[in-house]
Amino acid sequence: MCGIIGYCGPKPAAQILIDGLKRLEYRGYDSAGICIGNNGSLTVVKKKGKIRDLKAIVPKNLQGNFGIGHTRWATHGGVTDINAHPHTDVSGKIAIAHNGIIENFAVLKAKLESDGITFKSETDSEVIAHLIAQNYKGNLEQAVKESLSLLEGTYGIVCIHIDEPFKIVGARNGSPLVVGIGEKEMFLASDVTAILAHTKQVVYVEDREVVTVTCDDYTITDLKDRPINKKIDEITWELQQIEKGDFAHFMEKEIFEQPESITRAYSGRTEAEQATAKLGGLNLTTKELLNIERIKIIAAGTSFHAGLVAAYLMESIARIPCNAELASEVRYRNPLVERNTLYFAVSQSGETADTLYAMRELQRKGATVLGICNVVGSTIARESDGGVYIHSGPEIAVASTKAFTSQITAFYLFNLILSRMRHMSFESGEWYLKNMLAVPDSIKIVLDKAAQLKDMAGRYAHYKDFLFLGRGINYPVALEGALKLKEISYIHAEGYSAAEIKHGPIALINEETPSVFLVPADRLREKVISNIKEVKARKGRVIAFCNEKDEEIKSIVDDFFEVPKVPGIFNPFVMVVPLQLFAYYCAVELGRDVDQPRNLAKSVTVE
Ligand code: GLU
Repeated sequence: MCGIIGYCGPKPAAQILIDGLKRLEYRGYDSAGICIGNNGSLTVVKKKGKIRDLKAIVPKNLQGNFGIGHTRWATHGGVTDINAHPHTDVSGKIAIAHNGIIENFAVLKAKLESDGITFKSETDSEVIAHLIAQNYKGNLEQAVKESLSLLEGTYGIVCIHIDEPFKIVGARNGSPLVVGIGEKEMFLASDVTAILAHTKQVVYVEDREVVTVTCDDYTITDLKDRPINKKIDEITWELQQIEKGDFAHFMEKEIFEQPESITRAYSGRTEAEQATAKLGGLNLTTKELLNIERIKIIAAGTSFHAGLVAAYLMESIARIPCNAELASEVRYRNPLVERNTLYFAVSQSGETADTLYAMRELQRKGATVLGICNVVGSTIARESDGGVYIHSGPEIAVASTKAFTSQITAFYLFNLILSRMRHMSFESGEWYLKNMLAVPDSIKIVLDKAAQLKDMAGRYAHYKDFLFLGRGINYPVALEGALKLKEISYIHAEGYSAAEIKHGPIALINEETPSVFLVPADRLREKVISNIKEVKARKGRVIAFCNEKDEEIKSIVDDFFEVPKVPGIFNPFVMVVPLQLFAYYCAVELGRDVDQPRNLAKSVTVE
């Protein structure tokens, strides 16, 4: 969470930092600031609010060719101008920007205060600036290293000192940091989107490493001063992928990209001749794949819902016991790692702290954990034992959409590999592949009818509470539909198995609580129709997402949207897209800040 950036080079730093922060704004957006070094002085400008609010107060004549910037997602201390980063030491010679949480800040702060230091902000981060100042003896890198040894918690830090112009020291532990190598200019940033407009050459910094950049060089060492040589990676994303183009919001753009992003997720990974798939990065031999007796998926938020879909899929098709669990719960319940169990850690950003820490705990106990990530070079991608990149392209909107459908695509491929190794016939494999490759076209049919969902949102956005109900493999999709609606429209919504409402939630049904039913023509359709009738009998309004020409359902509900008919197991694809659009249009109808919803941020790098 939060974005950090540093720049050192010939160009005016303020403009580069502000533009970079704008690109990072999706990572945190309650306040922002920059610190520019010039001619023996540091100038800090910071402001509560969006980057545009910061930009408005940055003096036009602010000179200086090196500096740092930050966009905040507050954890410690309210959202105020003073708590915004960068933070300086007492002398004003050192400035830092920090992403993460310093867990022992209270102890450190008490000690620093007893040394006579007065704090300006309520943040945990400010201790870092004062510690570096106390340890400073003419070498910023050394002072940072000595200070880091005192910190507990997570951090990505960028730091400058006025007596060492054109130098930025960065460090990380649990929060991402990347070096951008330009033409006689260097960058540090928490993610590549911040620097993509300037360079595609990057070096990923690892935990407990310290990096020093000057205008034309960088060095990376560990905390014991041992130099670390790293390979330079090339960013594969294009600049236009992180721009909105003609769309009103990134979320809208990303929803509409799904036919292409799903295609990218399976491209080059299907083997028609064998009616199976291949996933190069799994790092598992055929024998190891055959020995899998159980699969466990750990994830959070939307990725967790993708994991639930995968669990239904793999248990019913590959016939391997499979379940998905919230990563935040796995870590702290001392999980048992069973023999022949394969784990997946699913995270769009590959930086989700809950998922990363759970993965490390499982690996420590000997588990093999594969990652399913979007961001290449992310921490989960690097630390997992193998995995699958979903190749969605950058997902900028805070509410995840295209990553969800690509994550499940990766699982559909994996499921085919496992099934074909076991009991699935060649013919069934062909049938499965044919239907999987047809998914993008089915999604196009849904997208072509987006205007219907916009009208529907116009009719329903004023309701205060919603239930989302589905069964079987569509139950996790109902959870995802509810999550999307609450994330971006702030309408209260809950997802349940349709069968479950009679065990409690039906008490909520009245004319003011619409129920969204996912009811494709699968083997549970009749059961769900009974649930719809139970709701109607209690005067509840019902919106059905059903198949084309399902006249029976259309005649008993208040509103409906027709999704293309696909075989049962492929329904999550065609069901989730209209729910994403419904949530999107409700949020637009209510005038919400769709891409940067209240209190949220992309890439949750804190626990
Ligand atoms: N813990 C710090 C704060 O609350 C940094 C938060 C962030 O990562 O944006 O200021």
